[in-house]
Amino acid sequence: MAKTILTGDRPTGRLHLGHYVGSLKRRVDLQNSGEYKNIYIMIADAQALTDNFDNPEKVRQNIMEVALDYLSVGINPDLSTIFIQSMITELTELTFYYMNLVTLARLQLNPTVKNEIQMRDFKSSIPVGFLCYPISQAADITAFKADVIPVGEDQLPMIEQTREIVRKFNHIYDEVLVEPKAMLPDNQVCMRLPGIDGKAKMSKSLGNCIYLSDSAEDVQKKIMSMYTDPTHLKVTDPGHIEGNTVFTYLDAFCKPEHFERYWNDYASLNEVKEHYQRGGLGDVKVKRFLNSIVNEELEPIRTRRKEYEKDLNAVYDILVQGTDKAKEVAAATLAEVKQAMKLNYFEDKALILK
Ligand code: ATP
Ligand code: MG
Repeated sequence: MAKTILTGDRPTGRLHLGHYVGSLKRRVDLQNSGEYKNIYIMIADAQALTDNFDNPEKVRQNIMEVALDYLSVGINPDLSTIFIQSMITELTELTFYYMNLVTLARLQLNPTVKNEIQMRDFKSSIPVGFLCYPISQAADITAFKADVIPVGEDQLPMIEQTREIVRKFNHIYDEVLVEPKAMLPDNQVCMRLPGIDGKAKMSKSLGNCIYLSDSAEDVQKKIMSMYTDPTHLKVTDPGHIEGNTVFTYLDAFCKPEHFERYWNDYASLNEVKEHYQRGGLGDVKVKRFLNSIVNEELEPIRTRRKEYEKDLNAVYDILVQGTDKAKEVAAATLAEVKQAMKLNYFEDKALILK
């Protein structure tokens, strides 16, 4: 069976380390594996408007930023189709039909949406569009008949919602849609990378991010200010590694060869952890080590970004071409959907002519 990938990001800011370990890195690996025939990567501007409707400028300004981030991490437009969601009106049409297949109660139960509503302080003024974004995500995924969705853990309820819609649609109308599966990162800590403030999730909306495009100096400043263990006051105090963001990041990024390169006092992360827990190892040393590792990972990404930034017209063309290609695929699926729902009156007179 042809395997198809769809993933995307909201253009609400530049992309950060959470995106990188949670999804972007995986996308690049899958792209380069050659095992996937179709890879679609969506800049979800329409979804971003559901909670930024009063700030369309922010969403618009970030489209290019996200595109540059994609290209910088190694998304290759010859192998992956990058497109802009709002330019494909077929997705909105699909959303409208899928809305009938989901109850309000079901949307209100979605744990990620619940969480995000709380975070955004909507109180009782929740925009209907925001509540419905899981339905629009189902439209995005099914329009491309995607079966593999590489995402962070926060997206699992969205994939589940999509699977329910697919099953309901196929049962009521016809077997047109494909049930997708989430592909989570292998490394547990990468499923939901915390913010530098120690909050549960690094997120553009929380302002606790290390961005892929941050300069080496900015990254250093952020790492030096990172949340660690509030009970570890003196170097000699025993420290805790649970909930200690610096150690969580080391779990996400540290490889054995980093010790040779940056810290040959230790041979493994476990040795560092043991010393920290025993007492006698200060935060600054651990942070310096993390800083070297993160900057090593980000340096080639920054360099590639600078190259692409020199020719933004070429990036624009990549978006136009990707969107054209994606639109064709979405239009073909929408036609099948409408045929299954018998909404294709002008193709088949008998449907409405008595
Ligand atoms: P916003 O705050 O605007 O929602 P965000 O930072 O949550 O932005 P999204 O565009 O919503 O980013 O997420 C894009 C993808 O990145 C999703 O697959 C999501 O699971 C993944 N992702 C986002 N943040 C993290 C994180 N901290 N750890 C792991 N994966 C993440
Ligand atoms: Mg999000």
